[in-house]
Amino acid sequence: MLRARVETAFHPSCTCKMGQDAVAVVDGQLRVHGLEGLRVVDASVLPRITSANLNAPTVMIAARAADFILGVPQLDPMEEVAAQTLRNEMV
Ligand SMILES: Cc1cc2nc3c(=O)[nH]c(=O)nc-3n(C[C@H](O)[C@H](O)[C@H](O)COP(=O)(O)OP(=O)(O)OC[C@H]3O[C@@H](n4cnc5c(N)ncnc54)[C@H](O)[C@@H]3O)c2cc1C
Repeated sequence: MLRARVETAFHPSCTCKMGQDAVAVVDGQLRVHGLEGLRVVDASVLPRITSANLNAPTVMIAARAADFILGVPQLDPMEEVAAQTLRNEMV
């Protein structure tokens, strides 16, 4: 039954999950717990697999990692930027 019904769906992930619990590998800035100067930046840091395909979240993880390394602060939430843009267009 397993051979017939199980597949990988080409989305390996979550093997170095981000978090603070006993099985987490990296912290919220993707630094490996207990080591200095080592980050993991790929789909493996997802705590749980996303409900959609992985390419876009993986690109986002890489963009955030670049910000962490460069010390660039997080951008404002897109919802607010998008809402403001819409409001301006409607005026
Ligand atoms: C057939 C297939 C179809 C897919 N289709 C989609 C899709 O349509 N949409 C979507 O969103 N996602 C899709 N995915 C999933 C998506 O491509 C992956 O989840 C995503 O690329 C994962 O990124 P990653 O950086 O974690 O790993 P990868 O993209 O696998 O990157 C790992 C990199 O590390 C390199 N590497 C490995 N070992 C070493 C080593 N020892 N030294 C140096 N470099 C090394 C590899 O060469 C590779 O470049 C698909 C995946 C597959 C396999």
